[in-house]
Amino acid sequence: MRAARFYGRRDIRIEEVPEPSIGPGDLLLKISAVGICGTDAHEFAAGPQMFPIDHPHPVSGHVGPMIPGHELAGVVVDKAPDVAGFEAGSLVVSGAGISCGTCHWCLRASTNLCERYSTLGLHQDGGLAEYAAVPASTCVDASGWGISADTAALAQPMSIAVHALRRGRLQRAESAVILGAGGIGVFLTYAAAAWSDQVFVADLDRRRLQVAESLGATKTVEVGGETSIETVLDDNRTIPSVIYEVSGSAAGFEQALRLAQRGTRIVLVGLQHGHKQVDPVDISLRELELVGTSAHVCSLDLPEALRLLASRDGGWTDVAPQALSLNELVSDGLEPLAENRTTRIKTLVDPWVDTARATSA
Ligand SMILES: [Zn+2]
Ligand SMILES: [Zn+2]
Repeated sequence: MRAARFYGRRDIRIEEVPEPSIGPGDLLLKISAVGICGTDAHEFAAGPQMFPIDHPHPVSGHVGPMIPGHELAGVVVDKAPDVAGFEAGSLVVSGAGISCGTCHWCLRASTNLCERYSTLGLHQDGGLAEYAAVPASTCVDASGWGISADTAALAQPMSIAVHALRRGRLQRAESAVILGAGGIGVFLTYAAAAWSDQVFVADLDRRRLQVAESLGATKTVEVGGETSIETVLDDNRTIPSVIYEVSGSAAGFEQALRLAQRGTRIVLVGLQHGHKQVDPVDISLRELELVGTSAHVCSLDLPEALRLLASRDGGWTDVAPQALSLNELVSDGLEPLAENRTTRIKTLVDPWVDTARATSA
């Protein structure tokens, strides 16, 4: 089969490799579409940091060239004898996160915090190939939702957003501020708008904000534009209940702290590298909450992600307009994403086409 394999920094090769064989608990998927995200672009341009190319991964044991792709949808072509359900021909999504099922956290439905967690496409071969072997425990059958395979391939990032939303405990009649309308922020916007009619979204890019509006944002704010987000909140007499910092930028973190008012919960969705100035007295006296969120809980967040994706009339082609071929993965996918010059919020890859195709709703 054809697959994209990562060898090292800026070195991804499209190669002919043997089809993967399935072990106990696995499904063999014929891949329909795979999303790429900032993590893939970062590994491509500045890695390997996560990909186990030089050293064996402590959990997966993988070492050497690796097939990326952790946002995948495909059709079941085979399964291990011990797998129940997942009939041949059904469309499934994989949440990609593999947990042990027996540790302290797994037993408390926090499989994302599993002490032996690993991820398909980050720590072992993933979905940027014609076929992938994936644990059925990471998968949800998507065939009942009436969504396209392209939409199904958005389930993993939507699931990350669903998990972040839950971490913020956004209640009805509460307001949310979302800083960053990229590949997670837009899904978070849609998920939050299902709960709240006060969802404020800020981003540097006007086109992303237009998509955020069509996904249910109450008001959007162009960062660096004429009106500040403080002004917009004041004009709407809104005190943010929850601030989701999705940009991962230092400016976003500082903005979140500035916008926080008494009792605000700040959810750090984007990874904030480096040390930050936070005044613990301020956190105590204003009862602020700084909340972490990581990955997603496959059994809870992934089904909800599919429900949300299916609930949008007209589908998601505005968020993910194109599926690239494997040959275009680097030039039209990872490089523009790494250099911040892509116009697509979400980029999909279809390993079966020779040239980019339009996605279907
Ligand atoms: Zn991702
Ligand atoms: Zn575990």
